[in-house]
Amino acid sequence: MTDRTPKLRPALESIPTYKPGRPAATGADAPRAYKLSSNENPYPPLPGVLESAVSAAASFNRYPDMACSGLVAELAEHFGVPAAHIATGTGSVGVAQQLIQATSGPGDEVIYAWRSFEAYPIITQISGARSVQVPLTEGDVHDLDAMAAAITDRTRLIFVCNPNNPTGTVVRRAELERFLDRVPADVLVVLDEAYREFIRDPEVPDGIELYRDRPNVCVLRTFSKAYGLAGLRVGFAIAHEPVAAALRKTAVPFGVTQLAQDAAVASLRSEAALLERVESLVAERERVARELAGQGWTVPESQANFVWLRLGERTTDFAAACERAGVSVRPFAGEGVRITIGEPEANEVALRVAEEFRKEL
Ligand SMILES: *Cc1c(COP(=O)(O)O)cnc(C)c1O
Repeated sequence: MTDRTPKLRPALESIPTYKPGRPAATGADAPRAYKLSSNENPYPPLPGVLESAVSAAASFNRYPDMACSGLVAELAEHFGVPAAHIATGTGSVGVAQQLIQATSGPGDEVIYAWRSFEAYPIITQISGARSVQVPLTEGDVHDLDAMAAAITDRTRLIFVCNPNNPTGTVVRRAELERFLDRVPADVLVVLDEAYREFIRDPEVPDGIELYRDRPNVCVLRTFSKAYGLAGLRVGFAIAHEPVAAALRKTAVPFGVTQLAQDAAVASLRSEAALLERVESLVAERERVARELAGQGWTVPESQANFVWLRLGERTTDFAAACERAGVSVRPFAGEGVRITIGEPEANEVALRVAEEFRKEL
């Protein structure tokens, strides 16, 4: 026996761990527990989707279609883009990690807003690249001017999370186009549009329109949020050939299961029904935002399926109060709480906690 251990890359030492949203709260005071901590869709899969998944289960002894050809063809048709511009992965986090792997290594820089999606620092650091975090503005919005100013000749990739997780805020067409015009053609801009389907502000551009004549723009989408398939791990990128091809090279072989591929295709085919559910979540978001504003909170306008309460030092107290009342939310200690829009009953519990909490402030 020796006390030597396998050599691990030093880059791993300070990687923050991804904190998954807490499971549904089981507060002693609450008759029912709800989970509003992971931006999941509260609706179960639609019947057609469930049936396709069940039938895919009969072939579990087989590897999936490695090229995801059925899904890619369906997506190409759906979005009006060439199939060669689509690359799939194990959730859009998986695709984001492939994008970093394909572009960035030790000595390189990856720029993103902060606070933003907590996977960005993790996947950046794994690659050995350096995170350049550009603070959000006072209004919790991406500071695109500061992000453009942060570009150096080491910059390889820039994430723009639109709407931003966890604040729900958006960047609009004119400012985003002005930013893209300033980014050098050899730096990849990743428009992370995980919440695209929840956007109702007509001034927020669809990344797929922006990517068409910009070879350095890549759009990330997922089936995890609006489509309600978080548990199946399937997401995709739309980008011009060199980038899409690099994503196919960096993919884990057979990463996306057949079950996920078939369920994603079935979801695209039931889109009308899915989007009706999204519509009701948007209505709930507006109701929750109105009520919070009525209670006296300043809530940044959200275009996603969650709202952000900037609670500062009271963040963990608020999350604990929610937990006791039967809802789990997502606290970012010292900063604020992200509350997913879920079932109306669950949102109601969170609103009552917010109301009580407000009175004590
Ligand atoms: C949830 C989320 C994703 C999607 O994650 P999946 O890996 O597709 O489940 C990507 N980006 C952001 C900003 C998110 O909030």
